[in-house]
Amino acid sequence: ESRPSSMSAFWMPFTNNRDFKASPRLLVSAEGMYYKDVDGNRILDGTAGLWCVPCGHAQPRITQAVSEMVGQLDFAPTFQMGHPAAFDLAEQLMDYTGHKFGHVFYTNSGSEAVDTALKMALAYHKARGEGGRTRLIGRERGYHGVGFGGLSVGGIGNNRKSFGPLLPGVDHLPHTHNLLKNAFSRGEPDFGAELADELERLVTLHDASTIAAVIIEPVSGSTGVLVPPKGYLKRLREICDKHGILLIFDEVITGFGRLATPFASDYFGVEPDMMTTAKGITNGVVPMGAVFSRRFIHDAFMDAPAGIELFHGYTYSGHPLACAAGLATLQVFREEGVIENAQAMQAYFEDALHSLRGLPHVIDLRSIGLVAGIELEPIPGKPGARAYAAFKQAFADGILIRVTGDIIALSPPLVLDKGHIDELFGKLATVLNNLD
Ligand code: PMP
Repeated sequence: ESRPSSMSAFWMPFTNNRDFKASPRLLVSAEGMYYKDVDGNRILDGTAGLWCVPCGHAQPRITQAVSEMVGQLDFAPTFQMGHPAAFDLAEQLMDYTGHKFGHVFYTNSGSEAVDTALKMALAYHKARGEGGRTRLIGRERGYHGVGFGGLSVGGIGNNRKSFGPLLPGVDHLPHTHNLLKNAFSRGEPDFGAELADELERLVTLHDASTIAAVIIEPVSGSTGVLVPPKGYLKRLREICDKHGILLIFDEVITGFGRLATPFASDYFGVEPDMMTTAKGITNGVVPMGAVFSRRFIHDAFMDAPAGIELFHGYTYSGHPLACAAGLATLQVFREEGVIENAQAMQAYFEDALHSLRGLPHVIDLRSIGLVAGIELEPIPGKPGARAYAAFKQAFADGILIRVTGDIIALSPPLVLDKGHIDELFGKLATVLNNLD
């Protein structure tokens, strides 16, 4: 079916995705675990939108809260003033994160949260008279959004190469995935943690006094559900502590229940100095991101010497609709047992995933919490083609999956039941069995 070309020309050109232009898949409504497409087909949401709908679609409390707020306070500046929902949400987020953080800064997306966190890290060191600490360290295969900061610390060569020059003074730790391929792992693999010691090598190379922060996705999401080895994040934490380097966890995907714990830091028992979030914070209903930082970071700004300018903020920071959605989302998490349901479904989900072992082209399966990666053998000379074919067939068969390269990522809303898991993996098995 043809669609107005202006629509696809408007937002697709950066992806060069001609297939979408030829046969657009248009979603027109959503409820609970399902989308409906323009032809009236029901599509089981195996990806929670773009990892961002933990509570399921059209969640009534969230819909109602946003509707009420739009009629009450459509916009409020957050420079020199504020509004109660922004403060209520900040307080509740402090509670929800166990008071490990002392400050939350609102953005409108994950990319903005990442750039904000990187700027805060640099400014923190400057405020403390350690302005030489400007180097940033990311990781191969890390995805941190599309701002220049996030792109620079991100470790996906293809995303970076058309947009240089990027930030100077950035290094990337090697990714443990290179060690772990084909491990068919459940949860954390129990080998490979020593790769964290690469951080010590970078400290030796550059001197600790030049390094501001390490940023890492606890589980790399967009690049294919790459789970860290047991002890890896703890070792990074220890090295950062030893050298006064800030540790930032990018929890845009892992936050708000994806690992069946509130945050990945809870799962792994490692506390970062800063945490970036977005997506699930509002159940995907209104765009929002947030940077959490430990109190000592915020205090450094308060105590900063005169003459250090620390301006940063967005027109839509703390938008009333986003705050209303965020408050309602937290209420749903608390009152409807979203994390508890994720915990209850985790083993069943994992068993269903690992039942795909032995199917054609499946070379690895990985799972943690309610997220799964299925790595397919690439077609020689056509990277990504096999998984993309799976995506198209899956959609035609009524399940939404996400593909990245030749990896299928599954991350359904956390309110799913066993019937949804059976439907998702049953249909996916059929797709894989029939794939060229
Ligand atoms: N960080 C991570 C870990 C992400 O997965 C994403 C988005 N997938 C981002 C940052 C960027 O978020 P956004 O697309 O909201 O800018």
